[in-house]
Amino acid sequence: MNIILLGAPGAGKGTQAEKIEKTFGIPQISTGAILRAEREAGTELGNKAKTFMDAGDLVPDELIVAMAEKRISGNDCQKGFILDGFPRTSAQAEALGHMLAGMQKKLNAVINIKVNEDILVKRLLGRRQCLKCGDNFNVYFNAPKKENICDSCGSELNQRSDDNEETIRNRFDVYNNQTNTLIDYYKNKGNYKEVNGETGSIDEIFSSIKKILEESIG
Ligand code: ADP
Ligand code: ZN
Repeated sequence: MNIILLGAPGAGKGTQAEKIEKTFGIPQISTGAILRAEREAGTELGNKAKTFMDAGDLVPDELIVAMAEKRISGNDCQKGFILDGFPRTSAQAEALGHMLAGMQKKLNAVINIKVNEDILVKRLLGRRQCLKCGDNFNVYFNAPKKENICDSCGSELNQRSDDNEETIRNRFDVYNNQTNTLIDYYKNKGNYKEVNGETGSIDEIFSSIKKILEESIG
């Protein structure tokens, strides 16, 4: 089962991808998370990506496509994968199409998680993550009991360096100018579905996604 999650920054792609991963046993591939790990490790790719990411700009397509291809070719992706944050441009979508055709793989579902932009800005500004256990919090919507401390393991919480107002504004511009067009691209190819990512709880949104995925398996 090969899935793409689409949605603006902060729509909840990562959160939902994690739940799909647990329920369906296929790995989540987050290009943003891979890039952050590369930065952390100080690799050549990480160093190249840094300036783009901190500005909220896209990392060049050729770097991302090579990185995604390497990851999708991994053994753990044989039974399927969930793409979160890739593709993000038409060129990436085309490259993905070629890559999958070459591997005799198909996309089973492209799910767009829809949320209004004003809500997204608050979600991004408020989000904090525990790097130790992975738990997520939000100072506006789901504050930790003790300020900046993880409820689950007591570690200090982290704020992403690109979750500041200026970078967030640019990430939305980039989304609206380059990524939003993928909705029409995948609508024309079939398998495109939308879920409301705004009003329900994380579990309610997940159950809409689960239903779509179960239907797509048949
Ligand atoms: P969000 O979706 O919340 O903005 P991500 O974690 O998906 O954040 O991505 C963070 C940053 O990593 C992006 O702003 C961009 O610089 C880079 N990045 C991630 N995925 C891609 C991609 N597919 N193409 C280009 N740049 C990417
Ligand atoms: Zn923790």
